[in-house]
Amino acid sequence: MTHPEHSPASSAVALAPDTRRLPPRAARAWTEKMRARALGNGKYVVVGQSESAYEVDLQSGWCTCPDHQYRGERCKHLRRVALEITGGRLPAPDHRAVTCLACGRRSFVHTEEPAVCEACQFTPGTTVRDRETDDLLVVVEQTGDRADCVLIDDGTVADYPTNVGYPHGDPVVMCVYPFSGPSDEPFEQRRQYAFPHSRLEREWRPQSARQARLPNATSSQ
Ligand SMILES: [Zn+2]
Ligand SMILES: [Zn+2]
Repeated sequence: MTHPEHSPASSAVALAPDTRRLPPRAARAWTEKMRARALGNGKYVVVGQSESAYEVDLQSGWCTCPDHQYRGERCKHLRRVALEITGGRLPAPDHRAVTCLACGRRSFVHTEEPAVCEACQFTPGTTVRDRETDDLLVVVEQTGDRADCVLIDDGTVADYPTNVGYPHGDPVVMCVYPFSGPSDEPFEQRRQYAFPHSRLEREWRPQSARQARLPNATSSQ
């Protein structure tokens, strides 16, 4: 059954190649049953149909299998890892798989970035609103540290009285108040405050909508 009105033009293109037209190693990379997993530091392990496990280093094009070791070929394991990365099923060599501390979804992040997915990351300079006080803040740093592990004053960020209702595993976001202190004081010199991620929301609303909401802000807390 066809539904031409629901079929974008791209659906007519095969997503996998016609493997009969590929060189044998490339075809096997597509069709053979292989399990691949990231080991970190740009290395992967591939377990093939024979249950033999081989280690792949994608960046240096290295595999421990005989096909690569003795024949110097770009073997099916190297090719399979590249296909899995392109398909979004394995992290690229400079990425790692994480469970996002904010939303709990599995995601790939750069090895130097915190375990917070792209959708949840507050990048430096983002304007956010404190859900408790309705104050505007500017993000200085999205950390990968849990609120119940970061010490402030007498306890952790999670213990702070106005933070207890937020998940204790929330990643901490460092912010400054843009409108306090001398107006010419650079953000990086201002006092920073630690917030649990869920307490902050991106500031999307236009100025007029914010002012209209302010009188009711206290009654909703
Ligand atoms: Zn190999
Ligand atoms: Zn997330």
